[in-house]
Amino acid sequence: MSAFIARIALALLMLPLATVVYLMVVSLLLAGPGRRSEEAAFAVASVLTGAFVGGYWIALWRRTVHWTPRRVLLTALAPLAALIVSLPPAAVLGNAIDPSFGVFISGVIVILLWLTATIFIWRETPAERLKRLRSVGISGVACPACGYNMAGLQATTCPECGARFSLDQIVGATLEARQPVEES
Ligand SMILES: [Zn+2]
Repeated sequence: MSAFIARIALALLMLPLATVVYLMVVSLLLAGPGRRSEEAAFAVASVLTGAFVGGYWIALWRRTVHWTPRRVLLTALAPLAALIVSLPPAAVLGNAIDPSFGVFISGVIVILLWLTATIFIWRETPAERLKRLRSVGISGVACPACGYNMAGLQATTCPECGARFSLDQIVGATLEARQPVEES
């Protein structure tokens, strides 16, 4: 299993694991000695699950993200924006069904919206991609998918991401990466 495939597998496992964390926290709070209200239990479970998901997701992709100050700031502000977006639907559902359901929905929306936002915030720009490919150097050939330096390999399968290419695809992508770029 390549490192890239392992990361994809770990990403797929995150939400089932987060569900287990959420359910465990809620049942402990509802059944435990404190006997919290359902609203409080869902709110605490959302915060703890959000911290779990945030830590897991950042640890998983940290090394593949080019951390500019703008990306760090947007990543940190995204949960706040997601919380604001989640309030109207949470209020409507809370009124229609049950206040605790509103709290539950708000937590779910914040976590899912933050995850979606990170994909757009962390995705490299075309200029960054070319810079990364170019950093391989004049003697290198880069994997067209992930930019891994494939110089010296005797196969055209990328050992980093597992993508397979024909020789002309690799050579074409490498030549393309050496063209002068306009910063965008
Ligand atoms: Zn690759």
